[in-house]
Amino acid sequence: MSAVVLDGRSLASAVRATVAEGVRDFVARTGRRPGLDVVLVGDDPASGVYVRAKTRACAEVGIRGEVHRLPADASQSQLLALVHALQSHHDVDGVLVQLPLPRGLDDTAVTEALDPARDVDGFHPVNAGLLFSGREGLVPCTPLGCMRLLDHANVPLEGARAVVIGRSNIVGKPIAMLLLQRNATVTLAHSRTRDLPGLCAQADVLVAAVGRPAMVRGAWIKPGAAVLDVGINRTADGTLVGDVAYPEAADRAGFITPVPGGVGPMTIACLLDNTLQAARRRMGLSGTGSTP
Ligand code: NAD
Repeated sequence: MSAVVLDGRSLASAVRATVAEGVRDFVARTGRRPGLDVVLVGDDPASGVYVRAKTRACAEVGIRGEVHRLPADASQSQLLALVHALQSHHDVDGVLVQLPLPRGLDDTAVTEALDPARDVDGFHPVNAGLLFSGREGLVPCTPLGCMRLLDHANVPLEGARAVVIGRSNIVGKPIAMLLLQRNATVTLAHSRTRDLPGLCAQADVLVAAVGRPAMVRGAWIKPGAAVLDVGINRTADGTLVGDVAYPEAADRAGFITPVPGGVGPMTIACLLDNTLQAARRRMGLSGTGSTP
């Protein structure tokens, strides 16, 4: 069997086009652009790359995207003061603080300082609680991107057996909640899970969000399963690989995301969509945008 490749680049570009349309409508109705303000603390090169990619993507769809930099030795109170100052502006619809923060800064306190209505990363406990309760809120972008990839390929979720490897608050747990909302029977696996290969072999939908290169072997995969590889790992020679051993997994899976070009591009597209949704809700506008 050779899996259908879930092309995140092309779906992300369709999502961005829909967001751009929604932004034009928002501007026509409110006289201003939706705005995303990103806080970058320190000079971590990877964070710098991510932040540039986010603001470039904002510009492409007409969202005002601005970066606010603080030095690596900024204090917790400076960082909190910046977040509060941003949130005092009416035209700031989304605020995100790029993680990880430099040592000494408390990311939990910073996340809790965010206004849940502007928390476009969906990390605030209020948004996490809304997701847990199956209610509407802002949902983390990578899990949203995974669901859109599954839906775009019409992967059946109702009653499906789903295994999510990784239980982080930003990826594994929210993906599990979204799959559960869609009536999948979900198992969250993690570093202490026994017989992971045996568990994966039962999964109609398998999500790998671990951060260990090629950990999930082809032989673990149920023939025909949908495999979403969230992992981003850089090998010694500089290439990017996922958590799934791609060639052997693609031989057994029914659907599979490549790395790069699968889940990754969907994350930023969903951030743009979350920013537009946050802006609409803050302005009391209807319209949620169609899902390509
Ligand atoms: P994390 O380190 O917070 O969590 C990793 C999880 O993997 C933990 O819950 C841990 O229990 C589990 N784990 C570790 N070793 C394991 C093992 N041997 N067997 C089973 N489970 C094990 O990581 P994260 O922030 O959730 O990110 C996971 C991966 O996804 C990373 O590679 C990260 O770079 C990537 N990521 C990608 C995107 C994207 O846009 N594609 C976004 C966020 C994270």
